[in-house]
Amino acid sequence: MTRINILSPLLADMIAAGEVVERPASVIKELMENAFDAGAKKVKVEFRNGGSTYIRVTDDGCGMSPEDAGVAFMRHATSKLSDEHGLEAIGTMGFRGEALAAISAVSRIELITREKGAEEGTRLVIEAGDIREMLPCGCPEGTSITVRDIFYNTPARLKFLKSDRAEASACLNAALRCALGRPEVSVRCLRDGEEEFFTPGDGRSESAVYSLLGREIANTLLPCKGSSPEGIGVQGFVSSPATSRGNRSMQHFTCNGRYIKSALLQAAVEQAYKNTLLTGRFPACVLYITLSCAAVDVNVHPTKNEVKFSDERSVFDGVYHAALGALENETPLPARTREVSAPKFVHDAPKGEQLRFSAQAHTSAAASAPRADFYRQMDAQTFRSEVQSGSLKLDGKGSSLSV
Ligand code: ADP
Ligand code: MG
Repeated sequence: MTRINILSPLLADMIAAGEVVERPASVIKELMENAFDAGAKKVKVEFRNGGSTYIRVTDDGCGMSPEDAGVAFMRHATSKLSDEHGLEAIGTMGFRGEALAAISAVSRIELITREKGAEEGTRLVIEAGDIREMLPCGCPEGTSITVRDIFYNTPARLKFLKSDRAEASACLNAALRCALGRPEVSVRCLRDGEEEFFTPGDGRSESAVYSLLGREIANTLLPCKGSSPEGIGVQGFVSSPATSRGNRSMQHFTCNGRYIKSALLQAAVEQAYKNTLLTGRFPACVLYITLSCAAVDVNVHPTKNEVKFSDERSVFDGVYHAALGALENETPLPARTREVSAPKFVHDAPKGEQLRFSAQAHTSAAASAPRADFYRQMDAQTFRSEVQSGSLKLDGKGSSLSV
């Protein structure tokens, strides 16, 4: 055996970055989550060349003081958790204080931030974890983080990046998922200077679904709503059985605003379609699950894409009943099965997982709203111009950032 070395903090961060920053899309997710945690109402996401040369996320959130900006990139630096008790009920997207440290260890970063109410902002340049420049600057309230040349100092990781096209599609999916989870935040996403999507941030999940998944998908969805005595809220949309799909790529779940993957939730939804869909056909859904932060552990996965529910049975039942209620209230559609296509989301459904959960079919107590005409009334262009002209309700506060 050779002698044991204690790794330098930079090397430790570069290794840790492997877990958090798998590819440019991971940076987009982490920066958007930070913007949400900062209370942003408007978030702008830009990336170029699949995110490999340039990613910028700008928000109108609380911003950072110069002192906080200086420590934000240190490992285990977080404003969201102060002691071990906090770990039991995490209500923010982040809490580990490792994303900025990890990203800065493998890229060149420029941070521009101004705390709400502060006279001036701070500009910080960081390269491979080192602060190169830190100066006061004039800037709008909020934060803008630019990440350039990801993995420039870790050639082995750089080699594993796929084509710009594939990375761009992963970046777009990451941004879409984050935006889908937060209908109350207006998100604008630009890829190589071209706008990919815009959500109005009016707090209505149908607006987010329409903007992100497109009218064709949105038109096939039925409103779905339910709540359980255990405090589990389910809201969103499930597809009509007449528009089933050949895979699960159109099943979207969020838990307390966090986009998650969950075999449990997939199984709960699919159970509601047991008697209406053929084997090998899958429903589409966009479901927003809300429950007490103490009833869900978000600290079970390195990228927090999966969560652990403390009472899986209740969550399963809540989702199952809500989906069943939506189907029972459905106005019958033509029996012909129709394939619907996803305009933006790229297929990455988990393959062949064993669904281990089941539920007894019984009449739903879940309340279901009548089918909304929302999507049918306008095309994408009209929707867009209505939002921009303000006739569709937007968060009217405005922002000092040009998001
Ligand atoms: P975490 O999100 O787990 O706390 P991060 O490394 O992502 O860790 O961020 C470190 C800290 O930097 C956050 O806790 C927060 O205080 C601050 N921060 C990061 N991004 C922003 C932002 N967009 N606006 C305001 N503060 C931010
Ligand atoms: Mg974070």
